[in-house]
Amino acid sequence: MTFLVTAGPTREPIDPVRFISNRSSGKMGYALATAALEAGHHAALITGPVCIAPPEGAEVKRVTTADEMADAVQTRMNTGCDVFLMCAAVADFKPRTVSERKIKKHDGMTNIELIPTRDILASIILPSDHRVIVGGFAAESHSLAENAQRKLREKQCDFICANDITRMDTGFDADHNEITIFFRDGSQRHFPRATKLELARSIIKICIDIAEMR
Ligand code: C5P
Repeated sequence: MTFLVTAGPTREPIDPVRFISNRSSGKMGYALATAALEAGHHAALITGPVCIAPPEGAEVKRVTTADEMADAVQTRMNTGCDVFLMCAAVADFKPRTVSERKIKKHDGMTNIELIPTRDILASIILPSDHRVIVGGFAAESHSLAENAQRKLREKQCDFICANDITRMDTGFDADHNEITIFFRDGSQRHFPRATKLELARSIIKICIDIAEMR
């Protein structure tokens, strides 16, 4: 099977030297690609800027902005994949305009007008002739279950892996994570604190199980 995985943050430029981004390290997405390869599958990794090396054997496409990631995901989706894991921490907002010149302190600019980025998961066009298994990720600070159920409905996902970002020892930039996976049929599975690679192996196994049930 082919696993299409996104990872890392996006960067939304303000001017040539500044951008809006987030703390995503890319570790969870890279672990998913690693686990897919370990299980003998093909991994196509679309990654925002991160400081870690991609797993050997992965097909890698590097992108910077949410728009670039959206285009790269749609292009790769059109080529064909069986599982799509949207693990990237896409910036939710981007500056309405990007200054061509570095904004100077003495310009006195204090406001940056932001507009929403395209929601890749919600807007991607899935192939109609081949049922792709879609997994989303959610970093939540409150109402984990409620938000995950809404995202399942709104973002055409088979499951959502939700993690609680108020925990300091898991989630963003950590080597460990603790997740609850919410499925479309209303069921859920909790995975206690483990390394991101261990959790990634469980997620890949779940995808393979769903594929076999179809
Ligand atoms: O709504 P929220 O950003 O919490 O949803 C998280 C899920 O949506 C993740 O799978 C993330 O990769 C995806 N997402 C996206 N495009 C965005 C924002 C989030 O695909 N612009």
